[in-house]
Amino acid sequence: MPDCIFCQIASKQLSAHITYEDKQVIAFNDIDPQAPVHQLIIPKQHISTLNDITSESIPLIGHMVKVASELAHEFNLNESGYRTVFNCNANGGQMVFHIHLHLLGGRQMSWPPG
Ligand code: 5GP
Ligand code: ZN
Repeated sequence: MPDCIFCQIASKQLSAHITYEDKQVIAFNDIDPQAPVHQLIIPKQHISTLNDITSESIPLIGHMVKVASELAHEFNLNESGYRTVFNCNANGGQMVFHIHLHLLGGRQMSWPPG
């Protein structure tokens, strides 16, 4: 997807502070962090929203969650706690239409979310 900023980050056409990378996914610092730690974990493959995932996507989504858990450990969030979020479409607050898992930590999260 040439116009997709997260595809551009995945292909290194657009720079980001990358914290993890493997064949399937890449993780990087959010440009506008909402917490002391705010990472985005994305698949390298373009998938627009959670509505577009299929049964074949299950291992990939599971891998994204595992990477979030490993990064949480790396950033010392595992004991204090953290939040992981997939936003979907307008009411979910999705701004970038390439699925991404937010990993937020380092402060108390409020509930319910705004
Ligand atoms: P969404 O609202 O779609 O769930 O989250 C999109 C996230 O991507 C936002 O937290 C936003 O700050 C982040 N973001 C948008 N553009 C860029 C960018 O060019 N680089 C990085 N690193 N993050 C971005
Ligand atoms: Zn994309």
